[in-house]
Amino acid sequence: MLAGRMMDFPLTLTHFLERARTFFGRNEIVSRLPDKTLVRSTYGDFYRRTAKLAGALHRLGVRPGDRVATLSWNHQRHLEVYLGAPAMGAVVHTLNLRLHPNELGYIANHAEDKVVVVDRSLLPLWRKFADQVRSVRHVIVVPDCPAQGEPTSTEIDYEEFIAPEKDEYPWPSLDERSAAMICYTSGTTGNPKGVVYSHRSTVLHTLVVCNADTIGVREADTVLPVVPMFHAAAWGLPYAAVMAGSKLVFPGPHLDPPSLLDLIAAEKVTIAAGVPTIWLGILQLLDQHPGKWNLSAIRSTVIGGSAAPPALIDGFKSRHGIDVTHAWGMTETNPVGTLARVKHALSDRDEATKLGCKASQGYAVPFVEQRHVGEDGTILPWDGETMGELEVRGPWVASSYFSDEGPDRFTADGWFKTGDVVTIDREGYLRITDRSKDVIKSGGEWISSVALENALMSHPAVLEAAVFAARHPKWTERPLAAIVLKEGKAATRDELNAHIESKFAKFWLPDDYVFMAQIPRTSTGKFLKTKLRELYGDHLEKQGAAE
Ligand code: ADP
Repeated sequence: MLAGRMMDFPLTLTHFLERARTFFGRNEIVSRLPDKTLVRSTYGDFYRRTAKLAGALHRLGVRPGDRVATLSWNHQRHLEVYLGAPAMGAVVHTLNLRLHPNELGYIANHAEDKVVVVDRSLLPLWRKFADQVRSVRHVIVVPDCPAQGEPTSTEIDYEEFIAPEKDEYPWPSLDERSAAMICYTSGTTGNPKGVVYSHRSTVLHTLVVCNADTIGVREADTVLPVVPMFHAAAWGLPYAAVMAGSKLVFPGPHLDPPSLLDLIAAEKVTIAAGVPTIWLGILQLLDQHPGKWNLSAIRSTVIGGSAAPPALIDGFKSRHGIDVTHAWGMTETNPVGTLARVKHALSDRDEATKLGCKASQGYAVPFVEQRHVGEDGTILPWDGETMGELEVRGPWVASSYFSDEGPDRFTADGWFKTGDVVTIDREGYLRITDRSKDVIKSGGEWISSVALENALMSHPAVLEAAVFAARHPKWTERPLAAIVLKEGKAATRDELNAHIESKFAKFWLPDDYVFMAQIPRTSTGKFLKTKLRELYGDHLEKQGAAE
Protein backbone atom coordinates (compact mmCIF):
# COMPACT_ATOMS: atom_id res chain seq x y z
CA MET A 1 0.00 0.00 0.00
CA LEU A 2 1.19 3.52 -0.73
CA ALA A 3 0.31 5.62 2.31
CA GLY A 4 -1.40 8.97 1.75
CA ARG A 5 0.74 11.91 2.76
CA MET A 6 -1.77 14.38 4.02
CA MET A 7 -1.93 16.01 7.41
CA ASP A 8 -3.75 14.18 10.14
CA PHE A 9 -5.63 17.31 11.20
CA PRO A 10 -8.02 16.61 14.09
CA LEU A 11 -11.74 17.02 13.42
CA THR A 12 -12.71 18.87 16.59
CA LEU A 13 -15.28 21.51 17.52
CA THR A 14 -12.47 23.85 18.56
CA HIS A 15 -11.98 24.61 14.88
CA PHE A 16 -15.58 25.83 14.57
CA LEU A 17 -14.99 28.29 17.40
CA GLU A 18 -11.73 29.61 15.99
CA ARG A 19 -13.19 29.90 12.53
CA ALA A 20 -16.24 31.84 13.76
CA ARG A 21 -13.96 34.29 15.55
CA THR A 22 -11.52 34.66 12.66
CA PHE A 23 -13.97 35.19 9.84
CA PHE A 24 -17.44 35.94 11.17
CA GLY A 25 -16.90 38.11 14.25
CA ARG A 26 -19.55 40.61 13.13
CA ASN A 27 -22.27 38.06 12.29
CA GLU A 28 -25.22 38.14 14.60
CA ILE A 29 -26.65 35.82 17.24
CA VAL A 30 -30.11 36.80 18.47
CA SER A 31 -31.75 35.22 21.52
CA ARG A 32 -35.32 35.73 22.65
CA LEU A 33 -35.78 35.68 26.43
CA PRO A 34 -38.81 34.32 28.30
CA ASP A 35 -40.22 37.89 28.51
CA LYS A 36 -39.83 38.09 24.71
CA THR A 37 -37.11 40.75 24.70
CA LEU A 38 -34.44 40.12 22.08
CA VAL A 39 -30.78 40.05 23.06
CA ARG A 40 -28.42 40.80 20.17
CA SER A 41 -24.84 39.62 20.12
CA THR A 42 -22.16 38.63 17.62
CA TYR A 43 -19.90 35.65 16.98
CA GLY A 44 -17.00 37.79 18.19
CA ASP A 45 -18.70 38.32 21.51
CA PHE A 46 -19.80 34.68 21.58
CA TYR A 47 -16.18 33.56 21.13
CA ARG A 48 -14.94 35.72 24.01
CA ARG A 49 -17.73 34.59 26.31
CA THR A 50 -17.15 30.94 25.40
CA ALA A 51 -13.44 31.29 26.23
CA LYS A 52 -14.40 32.84 29.56
CA LEU A 53 -16.82 30.00 30.23
CA ALA A 54 -14.07 27.46 29.52
CA GLY A 55 -11.78 29.31 31.94
CA ALA A 56 -14.48 29.37 34.59
CA LEU A 57 -15.26 25.66 34.18
CA HIS A 58 -11.57 24.89 34.52
CA ARG A 59 -11.36 27.04 37.64
CA LEU A 60 -14.24 25.04 39.06
CA GLY A 61 -12.30 21.81 38.57
CA VAL A 62 -13.93 20.53 35.36
CA ARG A 63 -11.44 18.24 33.65
CA PRO A 64 -11.34 16.27 30.36
CA GLY A 65 -14.23 13.87 30.07
CA ASP A 66 -16.29 15.49 32.85
CA ARG A 67 -19.93 15.97 32.03
CA VAL A 68 -21.41 19.46 32.02
CA ALA A 69 -25.19 19.23 31.83
CA THR A 70 -27.57 21.87 30.52
CA LEU A 71 -31.22 22.36 31.44
CA SER A 72 -31.94 25.17 29.05
CA TRP A 73 -34.07 26.55 26.27
CA ASN A 74 -32.45 27.58 22.98
CA HIS A 75 -30.35 30.72 23.51
CA GLN A 76 -26.82 32.01 23.17
CA ARG A 77 -25.56 30.94 26.57
CA HIS A 78 -26.67 27.41 25.78
CA LEU A 79 -24.57 27.69 22.62
CA GLU A 80 -21.61 28.81 24.71
CA VAL A 81 -21.84 25.55 26.69
CA TYR A 82 -22.37 23.59 23.42
CA LEU A 83 -18.96 24.73 22.17
CA GLY A 84 -17.07 25.75 25.30
CA ALA A 85 -17.42 22.53 27.27
CA PRO A 86 -16.31 20.20 24.43
CA ALA A 87 -13.52 22.53 23.28
CA MET A 88 -11.97 22.49 26.75
CA GLY A 89 -12.17 18.67 26.77
CA ALA A 90 -15.37 18.25 28.77
CA VAL A 91 -18.64 16.76 27.50
CA VAL A 92 -21.91 18.65 27.20
CA HIS A 93 -24.97 16.70 28.27
CA THR A 94 -28.30 18.22 27.26
CA LEU A 95 -31.13 17.40 29.66
CA ASN A 96 -34.61 17.30 28.12
CA LEU A 97 -36.69 19.70 30.19
CA ARG A 98 -39.93 18.08 29.06
CA LEU A 99 -39.19 14.85 30.91
CA HIS A 100 -40.58 13.94 34.31
CA PRO A 101 -38.28 15.07 37.18
CA ASN A 102 -37.69 11.43 38.22
CA GLU A 103 -36.56 10.60 34.71
CA LEU A 104 -34.28 13.64 34.66
CA GLY A 105 -32.82 12.53 37.99
CA TYR A 106 -32.17 9.07 36.59
CA ILE A 107 -30.49 10.47 33.46
CA ALA A 108 -28.29 13.02 35.28
CA ASN A 109 -27.11 10.28 37.65
CA HIS A 110 -26.55 7.84 34.86
CA ALA A 111 -24.41 10.32 32.93
CA GLU A 112 -22.63 11.30 36.18
CA ASP A 113 -23.06 15.00 35.48
CA LYS A 114 -20.67 17.10 37.52
CA VAL A 115 -21.90 20.60 36.76
CA VAL A 116 -25.32 21.66 35.59
CA VAL A 117 -26.10 24.91 33.77
CA VAL A 118 -29.76 25.78 34.41
CA ASP A 119 -31.95 28.59 33.11
CA ARG A 120 -33.28 30.57 36.04
CA SER A 121 -36.76 30.14 34.55
CA LEU A 122 -36.21 26.38 34.91
CA LEU A 123 -34.88 26.39 38.47
CA PRO A 124 -38.24 25.19 39.84
CA LEU A 125 -37.85 22.09 37.62
CA TRP A 126 -34.22 21.55 38.60
CA ARG A 127 -35.10 21.77 42.29
CA LYS A 128 -37.64 18.99 41.82
CA PHE A 129 -34.91 16.46 41.07
CA ALA A 130 -31.74 18.11 42.43
CA ASP A 131 -31.85 15.96 45.56
CA GLN A 132 -31.82 12.77 43.52
CA VAL A 133 -28.65 13.72 41.64
CA ARG A 134 -25.59 12.56 43.55
CA SER A 135 -22.85 13.61 41.14
CA VAL A 136 -23.66 17.32 40.55
CA ARG A 137 -21.57 19.60 42.71
CA HIS A 138 -22.11 22.97 41.04
CA VAL A 139 -25.18 24.66 39.61
CA ILE A 140 -24.63 27.58 37.25
CA VAL A 141 -27.76 29.68 36.86
CA VAL A 142 -28.41 31.47 33.57
CA PRO A 143 -30.18 34.75 34.43
CA ASP A 144 -32.86 34.57 31.73
CA CYS A 145 -35.50 36.13 34.01
CA PRO A 146 -35.52 38.15 37.24
CA ALA A 147 -34.44 36.26 40.38
CA GLN A 148 -37.12 35.03 42.72
CA GLY A 149 -35.84 34.46 46.23
CA GLU A 150 -32.29 33.75 47.30
CA PRO A 151 -30.03 31.28 45.45
CA THR A 152 -29.04 28.15 47.38
CA SER A 153 -25.39 27.70 48.42
CA THR A 154 -24.48 25.56 45.40
CA GLU A 155 -26.01 27.96 42.84
CA ILE A 156 -23.75 30.46 41.02
CA ASP A 157 -24.91 33.18 38.60
CA TYR A 158 -23.62 32.44 35.06
CA GLU A 159 -22.48 36.03 34.44
CA GLU A 160 -20.64 36.25 37.76
CA PHE A 161 -19.15 32.84 37.06
CA ILE A 162 -17.55 33.84 33.74
CA ALA A 163 -16.81 37.52 34.53
CA PRO A 164 -13.34 37.10 36.15
CA GLU A 165 -11.94 35.02 33.27
CA LYS A 166 -9.87 36.10 30.27
CA ASP A 167 -11.48 36.24 26.84
CA GLU A 168 -8.88 33.83 25.45
CA TYR A 169 -8.48 30.21 26.49
CA PRO A 170 -5.57 27.84 25.84
CA TRP A 171 -7.70 25.26 24.03
CA PRO A 172 -6.10 21.85 24.47
CA SER A 173 -5.39 19.68 21.43
CA LEU A 174 -8.01 16.99 21.59
CA ASP A 175 -8.33 13.49 20.24
CA GLU A 176 -11.06 13.75 17.60
CA ARG A 177 -12.48 10.47 18.88
CA SER A 178 -13.03 11.85 22.37
CA ALA A 179 -16.58 12.58 23.52
CA ALA A 180 -18.08 16.01 22.84
CA MET A 181 -21.74 15.50 23.78
CA ILE A 182 -24.09 12.99 25.40
CA CYS A 183 -27.76 12.84 24.45
CA TYR A 184 -30.28 10.43 25.88
CA THR A 185 -33.02 8.69 23.93
CA SER A 186 -36.45 9.52 25.24
CA GLY A 187 -36.93 6.00 26.55
CA THR A 188 -40.39 5.33 25.21
CA THR A 189 -39.31 1.70 25.51
CA GLY A 190 -37.36 0.92 28.68
CA ASN A 191 -34.93 3.26 30.40
CA PRO A 192 -33.41 6.14 28.43
CA LYS A 193 -30.05 5.25 26.93
CA GLY A 194 -27.08 7.58 26.48
CA VAL A 195 -25.57 8.19 23.05
CA VAL A 196 -22.05 9.63 23.13
CA TYR A 197 -21.15 11.82 20.15
CA SER A 198 -17.47 12.30 19.44
CA HIS A 199 -15.88 15.49 18.08
CA ARG A 200 -15.22 13.63 14.87
CA SER A 201 -18.80 12.39 14.45
CA THR A 202 -20.19 15.87 15.08
CA VAL A 203 -17.74 17.57 12.73
CA LEU A 204 -18.47 15.12 9.91
CA HIS A 205 -22.20 15.39 10.54
CA THR A 206 -21.93 19.19 10.41
CA LEU A 207 -20.09 19.12 7.10
CA VAL A 208 -22.83 17.00 5.62
CA VAL A 209 -25.63 19.13 7.09
CA CYS A 210 -24.04 22.09 5.28
CA ASN A 211 -23.87 20.18 2.01
CA ALA A 212 -26.00 21.82 -0.72
CA ASP A 213 -28.09 18.69 -1.28
CA THR A 214 -28.92 18.23 2.39
CA ILE A 215 -29.97 21.16 4.58
CA GLY A 216 -27.37 23.35 2.91
CA VAL A 217 -26.60 25.84 5.71
CA ARG A 218 -24.60 28.80 4.33
CA GLU A 219 -22.94 31.88 5.75
CA ALA A 220 -25.63 34.10 4.25
CA ASP A 221 -28.39 32.15 6.01
CA THR A 222 -30.34 33.11 9.10
CA VAL A 223 -31.01 29.90 10.98
CA LEU A 224 -33.83 29.42 13.48
CA PRO A 225 -33.56 26.11 15.35
CA VAL A 226 -37.09 25.69 16.69
CA VAL A 227 -36.21 22.11 17.52
CA PRO A 228 -34.85 22.27 21.06
CA MET A 229 -31.13 22.05 21.70
CA PHE A 230 -31.99 19.31 24.23
CA HIS A 231 -33.45 17.19 21.45
CA ALA A 232 -30.72 15.42 19.46
CA ALA A 233 -28.49 18.54 19.37
CA ALA A 234 -31.21 20.54 17.59
CA TRP A 235 -30.44 18.31 14.59
CA GLY A 236 -26.92 19.71 14.49
CA LEU A 237 -28.08 23.16 13.34
CA PRO A 238 -26.30 25.17 16.05
CA TYR A 239 -22.98 23.56 15.08
CA ALA A 240 -23.73 23.99 11.38
CA ALA A 241 -24.46 27.69 11.87
CA VAL A 242 -21.28 28.26 13.88
CA MET A 243 -19.15 26.47 11.29
CA ALA A 244 -20.75 28.33 8.40
CA GLY A 245 -20.96 31.65 10.28
CA SER A 246 -24.71 31.99 9.67
CA LYS A 247 -26.81 34.40 11.68
CA LEU A 248 -28.49 32.42 14.45
CA VAL A 249 -31.89 33.19 15.92
CA PHE A 250 -32.80 31.38 19.14
CA PRO A 251 -36.48 31.34 20.06
CA GLY A 252 -36.25 30.69 23.83
CA PRO A 253 -39.35 29.12 25.39
CA HIS A 254 -42.09 30.65 23.19
CA LEU A 255 -42.77 28.11 20.49
CA ASP A 256 -46.41 28.89 19.74
CA PRO A 257 -47.20 29.69 16.07
CA PRO A 258 -47.72 33.49 16.39
CA SER A 259 -44.51 33.95 18.40
CA LEU A 260 -42.53 31.93 15.87
CA LEU A 261 -44.04 33.70 12.87
CA ASP A 262 -43.28 37.09 14.43
CA LEU A 263 -39.65 36.05 14.89
CA ILE A 264 -39.29 34.52 11.42
CA ALA A 265 -40.65 37.69 9.79
CA ALA A 266 -38.77 40.20 11.96
CA GLU A 267 -35.38 38.49 11.71
CA LYS A 268 -35.79 37.42 8.06
CA VAL A 269 -35.15 33.77 8.86
CA THR A 270 -34.06 31.70 5.85
CA ILE A 271 -33.89 28.21 7.42
CA ALA A 272 -36.12 27.05 10.26
CA ALA A 273 -36.34 23.53 11.62
CA GLY A 274 -38.86 21.80 13.85
CA VAL A 275 -41.17 18.83 14.36
CA PRO A 276 -44.41 18.46 12.33
CA THR A 277 -46.67 19.63 15.20
CA ILE A 278 -44.98 23.02 15.19
CA TRP A 279 -45.41 23.35 11.44
CA LEU A 280 -49.01 22.12 11.47
CA GLY A 281 -49.84 24.95 13.88
CA ILE A 282 -47.97 27.48 11.75
CA LEU A 283 -49.66 26.34 8.55
CA GLN A 284 -53.08 26.62 10.13
CA LEU A 285 -52.36 30.18 11.27
CA LEU A 286 -50.97 31.16 7.86
CA ASP A 287 -54.10 29.78 6.22
CA GLN A 288 -56.27 31.83 8.56
CA HIS A 289 -54.28 35.04 7.98
CA PRO A 290 -52.72 34.88 4.53
CA GLY A 291 -50.23 37.68 3.95
CA LYS A 292 -50.08 38.80 7.58
CA TRP A 293 -46.43 37.80 7.98
CA ASN A 294 -43.78 38.54 5.38
CA LEU A 295 -42.00 35.22 5.00
CA SER A 296 -40.29 35.96 1.71
CA ALA A 297 -36.80 35.38 3.16
CA ILE A 298 -37.51 31.70 3.95
CA ARG A 299 -35.54 29.32 1.77
CA SER A 300 -36.25 26.07 3.52
CA THR A 301 -38.19 24.71 6.45
CA VAL A 302 -36.79 21.47 7.74
CA ILE A 303 -39.28 19.04 9.21
CA GLY A 304 -38.41 15.83 11.00
CA GLY A 305 -38.68 13.90 14.23
CA SER A 306 -41.91 12.25 13.10
CA ALA A 307 -43.58 11.87 9.73
CA ALA A 308 -44.46 15.10 7.93
CA PRO A 309 -47.86 14.49 6.27
CA PRO A 310 -47.91 15.18 2.49
CA ALA A 311 -50.80 17.60 3.05
CA LEU A 312 -48.51 19.70 5.22
CA ILE A 313 -45.68 19.74 2.68
CA ASP A 314 -48.08 20.50 -0.15
CA GLY A 315 -49.98 23.14 1.86
CA PHE A 316 -46.84 25.14 2.59
CA LYS A 317 -45.71 25.04 -1.02
CA SER A 318 -48.96 25.49 -2.90
CA ARG A 319 -50.63 28.05 -0.62
CA HIS A 320 -47.64 29.97 0.77
CA GLY A 321 -44.75 29.25 -1.60
CA ILE A 322 -42.63 27.77 1.20
CA ASP A 323 -40.42 24.80 0.52
CA VAL A 324 -40.34 21.94 3.04
CA THR A 325 -37.39 19.60 3.46
CA HIS A 326 -38.35 16.37 5.18
CA ALA A 327 -35.59 14.63 7.12
CA TRP A 328 -35.30 11.49 9.21
CA GLY A 329 -32.97 10.92 12.09
CA MET A 330 -32.55 9.62 15.59
CA THR A 331 -30.64 10.50 18.72
CA GLU A 332 -28.48 7.52 17.77
CA THR A 333 -27.58 9.08 14.40
CA ASN A 334 -26.26 12.44 15.67
CA PRO A 335 -29.11 12.89 14.32
CA VAL A 336 -29.59 13.42 10.53
CA GLY A 337 -29.63 10.13 8.59
CA THR A 338 -31.77 10.63 5.51
CA LEU A 339 -33.33 13.57 3.75
CA ALA A 340 -35.98 13.87 1.06
CA ARG A 341 -35.04 15.75 -2.08
CA VAL A 342 -36.50 15.13 -5.53
CA LYS A 343 -33.63 13.74 -7.61
CA HIS A 344 -32.85 15.65 -10.78
CA ALA A 345 -33.76 12.62 -12.88
CA LEU A 346 -37.27 12.72 -11.38
CA SER A 347 -37.78 16.47 -11.66
CA ASP A 348 -39.93 16.20 -14.79
CA ARG A 349 -42.35 13.73 -13.22
CA ASP A 350 -45.91 14.68 -12.30
CA GLU A 351 -46.56 16.68 -9.14
CA ALA A 352 -48.02 13.71 -7.23
CA THR A 353 -44.86 11.64 -7.81
CA LYS A 354 -42.64 14.52 -6.72
CA LEU A 355 -44.74 15.10 -3.62
CA GLY A 356 -44.38 11.36 -2.96
CA CYS A 357 -40.58 11.81 -2.94
CA LYS A 358 -40.69 14.93 -0.78
CA ALA A 359 -43.03 13.31 1.73
CA SER A 360 -40.94 10.14 1.97
CA GLN A 361 -38.10 10.06 4.48
CA GLY A 362 -35.75 10.40 1.50
CA TYR A 363 -32.51 8.55 1.07
CA ALA A 364 -29.34 8.42 3.12
CA VAL A 365 -27.11 11.49 3.27
CA PRO A 366 -23.43 11.04 2.26
CA PHE A 367 -21.61 8.53 4.46
CA VAL A 368 -24.75 7.02 5.92
CA GLU A 369 -25.76 3.67 4.46
CA GLN A 370 -29.22 2.15 4.62
CA ARG A 371 -30.78 -1.29 4.27
CA HIS A 372 -33.89 -3.01 5.57
CA VAL A 373 -34.16 -6.54 6.86
CA GLY A 374 -36.93 -9.05 7.47
CA GLU A 375 -37.84 -10.64 10.79
CA ASP A 376 -35.52 -13.55 10.00
CA GLY A 377 -32.61 -11.19 9.29
CA THR A 378 -32.66 -11.43 5.48
CA ILE A 379 -31.80 -8.28 3.57
CA LEU A 380 -34.90 -7.19 1.67
CA PRO A 381 -35.30 -5.95 -1.91
CA TRP A 382 -35.79 -2.27 -2.72
CA ASP A 383 -39.13 -2.76 -4.45
CA GLY A 384 -41.13 -0.07 -2.67
CA GLU A 385 -43.43 -2.67 -1.11
CA THR A 386 -41.64 -5.07 1.18
CA MET A 387 -41.64 -3.83 4.76
CA GLY A 388 -38.70 -4.47 7.05
CA GLU A 389 -36.66 -2.93 9.83
CA LEU A 390 -34.38 -0.09 8.78
CA GLU A 391 -30.71 -0.51 9.63
CA VAL A 392 -28.08 2.19 9.12
CA ARG A 393 -24.35 2.62 9.52
CA GLY A 394 -21.95 5.51 9.15
CA PRO A 395 -19.44 7.68 10.98
CA TRP A 396 -22.14 9.44 13.03
CA VAL A 397 -24.19 6.38 13.87
CA ALA A 398 -23.79 5.04 17.43
CA SER A 399 -21.67 1.89 17.71
CA SER A 400 -22.90 1.20 21.27
CA TYR A 401 -24.76 2.97 24.06
CA PHE A 402 -23.15 4.64 27.05
CA SER A 403 -22.46 1.90 29.62
CA ASP A 404 -23.22 -0.72 26.97
CA GLU A 405 -26.96 -1.04 27.41
CA GLY A 406 -29.09 -2.38 24.57
CA PRO A 407 -26.39 -4.44 22.80
CA ASP A 408 -29.12 -6.16 20.76
CA ARG A 409 -29.58 -2.96 18.73
CA PHE A 410 -26.19 -3.47 17.04
CA THR A 411 -25.73 -6.25 14.49
CA ALA A 412 -22.69 -8.50 14.28
CA ASP A 413 -21.84 -7.07 10.84
CA GLY A 414 -21.75 -3.48 12.07
CA TRP A 415 -25.19 -1.98 11.51
CA PHE A 416 -27.54 -0.18 13.91
CA LYS A 417 -31.11 -1.47 14.16
CA THR A 418 -33.33 1.61 14.14
CA GLY A 419 -36.61 0.01 15.23
CA ASP A 420 -38.32 1.76 12.30
CA VAL A 421 -40.31 -0.29 9.83
CA VAL A 422 -39.82 0.92 6.26
CA THR A 423 -40.21 0.20 2.59
CA ILE A 424 -37.45 1.27 0.21
CA ASP A 425 -38.19 1.90 -3.47
CA ARG A 426 -35.94 1.32 -6.48
CA GLU A 427 -34.62 4.87 -6.31
CA GLY A 428 -33.63 4.37 -2.67
CA TYR A 429 -36.39 6.54 -1.17
CA LEU A 430 -37.40 5.03 2.12
CA ARG A 431 -40.80 5.37 3.70
CA ILE A 432 -41.38 4.79 7.35
CA THR A 433 -44.53 2.83 7.81
CA ASP A 434 -44.21 2.59 11.59
CA ARG A 435 -41.96 2.21 14.55
CA SER A 436 -41.77 -1.54 15.09
CA LYS A 437 -43.62 -1.26 18.37
CA ASP A 438 -46.47 0.73 16.76
CA VAL A 439 -47.12 -1.41 13.72
CA ILE A 440 -50.68 -2.78 13.72
CA LYS A 441 -50.84 -6.54 13.31
CA SER A 442 -54.29 -7.42 12.07
CA GLY A 443 -54.84 -11.15 11.56
CA GLY A 444 -51.20 -11.69 10.60
CA GLU A 445 -51.09 -8.72 8.17
CA TRP A 446 -49.22 -5.50 8.91
CA ILE A 447 -51.04 -2.20 8.66
CA SER A 448 -49.05 1.03 8.49
CA SER A 449 -50.36 3.61 10.94
CA VAL A 450 -48.28 6.35 9.30
CA ALA A 451 -49.84 5.82 5.86
CA LEU A 452 -53.34 6.04 7.36
CA GLU A 453 -52.42 9.13 9.35
CA ASN A 454 -51.08 10.89 6.28
CA ALA A 455 -54.23 10.13 4.33
CA LEU A 456 -56.51 11.27 7.16
CA MET A 457 -54.55 14.49 7.61
CA SER A 458 -55.35 15.42 4.02
CA HIS A 459 -59.06 15.70 4.96
CA PRO A 460 -59.97 19.40 5.19
CA ALA A 461 -61.52 19.08 8.66
CA VAL A 462 -58.65 17.10 10.24
CA LEU A 463 -55.87 18.89 12.07
CA GLU A 464 -54.16 15.79 13.41
CA ALA A 465 -54.63 12.04 13.21
CA ALA A 466 -52.89 9.29 15.15
CA VAL A 467 -53.64 5.70 14.24
CA PHE A 468 -52.91 2.95 16.75
CA ALA A 469 -53.68 -0.66 17.55
CA ALA A 470 -56.76 -1.56 19.59
CA ARG A 471 -57.25 -5.13 20.79
CA HIS A 472 -59.70 -7.21 18.80
CA PRO A 473 -61.13 -10.63 19.73
CA LYS A 474 -60.85 -12.03 16.22
CA TRP A 475 -58.07 -10.12 14.48
CA THR A 476 -55.85 -9.60 17.56
CA GLU A 477 -55.40 -5.92 16.64
CA ARG A 478 -57.33 -3.46 14.53
CA PRO A 479 -56.57 0.18 13.68
CA LEU A 480 -58.31 2.90 15.62
CA ALA A 481 -57.83 6.58 14.74
CA ALA A 482 -57.60 9.44 17.22
CA ILE A 483 -58.63 12.66 15.48
CA VAL A 484 -58.23 16.32 16.37
CA LEU A 485 -60.55 18.42 14.23
CA LYS A 486 -59.70 21.92 13.03
CA GLU A 487 -61.49 24.69 14.89
CA GLY A 488 -65.13 24.97 13.83
CA LYS A 489 -64.92 21.92 11.50
CA ALA A 490 -66.75 18.61 11.73
CA ALA A 491 -66.36 15.14 10.20
CA THR A 492 -68.01 11.80 10.89
CA ARG A 493 -66.53 8.31 10.88
CA ASP A 494 -68.22 7.55 7.54
CA GLU A 495 -66.92 10.75 5.94
CA LEU A 496 -63.41 10.02 7.08
CA ASN A 497 -63.53 6.44 5.84
CA ALA A 498 -64.95 7.64 2.51
CA HIS A 499 -62.08 10.12 2.21
CA ILE A 500 -59.40 7.43 2.45
CA GLU A 501 -61.02 4.23 1.19
CA SER A 502 -59.81 4.57 -2.39
CA LYS A 503 -56.18 4.57 -1.20
CA PHE A 504 -56.17 1.40 0.90
CA ALA A 505 -57.25 -2.20 0.99
CA LYS A 506 -60.55 -2.41 2.87
CA PHE A 507 -59.03 -4.21 5.84
CA TRP A 508 -56.70 -1.24 6.44
CA LEU A 509 -59.54 1.18 7.22
CA PRO A 510 -59.85 2.12 10.91
CA ASP A 511 -62.58 0.24 12.77
CA ASP A 512 -63.51 3.39 14.61
CA TYR A 513 -62.57 7.00 15.28
CA VAL A 514 -62.20 8.76 18.60
CA PHE A 515 -62.31 12.54 18.61
CA MET A 516 -60.05 14.37 21.04
CA ALA A 517 -59.04 17.95 21.83
CA GLN A 518 -55.37 16.96 21.85
CA ILE A 519 -53.36 13.88 21.06
CA PRO A 520 -51.05 12.86 23.92
CA ARG A 521 -47.39 13.44 23.03
CA THR A 522 -43.92 12.37 24.05
CA SER A 523 -41.37 14.81 25.45
CA THR A 524 -40.12 15.43 21.92
CA GLY A 525 -43.54 16.09 20.39
CA LYS A 526 -44.33 12.67 18.90
CA PHE A 527 -47.69 10.94 19.23
CA LEU A 528 -47.62 8.94 22.45
CA LYS A 529 -49.21 5.77 21.15
CA THR A 530 -48.61 3.85 24.37
CA LYS A 531 -50.95 6.35 26.05
CA LEU A 532 -53.54 6.02 23.28
CA ARG A 533 -53.41 2.24 23.63
CA GLU A 534 -53.76 2.59 27.39
CA LEU A 535 -56.81 4.85 26.99
CA TYR A 536 -58.52 3.12 24.07
CA GLY A 537 -56.88 -0.31 23.74
CA ASP A 538 -60.14 -1.98 24.85
CA HIS A 539 -62.40 0.34 22.83
CA LEU A 540 -63.40 -2.32 20.30
CA GLU A 541 -63.80 -5.04 22.92
CA LYS A 542 -66.13 -2.73 24.81
CA GLN A 543 -68.14 -2.18 21.65
CA GLY A 544 -68.51 -5.96 21.46
CA ALA A 545 -66.62 -6.27 18.19
CA ALA A 546 -66.70 -9.80 16.86
CA GLU A 547 -65.77 -9.82 13.21
P1 ADP B 1 -36.87 8.75 20.56
O1 ADP B 1 -36.31 7.53 19.92
O2 ADP B 1 -36.42 8.95 21.88
O3 ADP B 1 -38.32 9.01 20.26
P2 ADP B 1 -35.58 10.33 18.62
O4 ADP B 1 -35.80 11.77 18.53
O5 ADP B 1 -34.23 9.79 18.56
O6 ADP B 1 -36.20 10.00 19.95
O7 ADP B 1 -36.55 9.62 17.63
C1 ADP B 1 -36.14 8.89 16.53
C2 ADP B 1 -37.34 8.31 15.87
O8 ADP B 1 -38.22 9.33 15.43
C3 ADP B 1 -37.04 7.53 14.65
O9 ADP B 1 -36.62 6.22 14.97
C4 ADP B 1 -38.36 7.56 13.91
O10 ADP B 1 -39.25 6.58 14.41
C5 ADP B 1 -38.92 8.90 14.27
N1 ADP B 1 -38.66 9.84 13.19
C6 ADP B 1 -37.69 10.76 13.10
N2 ADP B 1 -37.80 11.46 11.97
C7 ADP B 1 -38.87 10.98 11.30
C8 ADP B 1 -39.50 11.27 10.06
N3 ADP B 1 -39.08 12.23 9.27
N4 ADP B 1 -40.57 10.54 9.71
C9 ADP B 1 -41.05 9.56 10.51
N5 ADP B 1 -40.50 9.24 11.69
C10 ADP B 1 -39.42 9.93 12.08
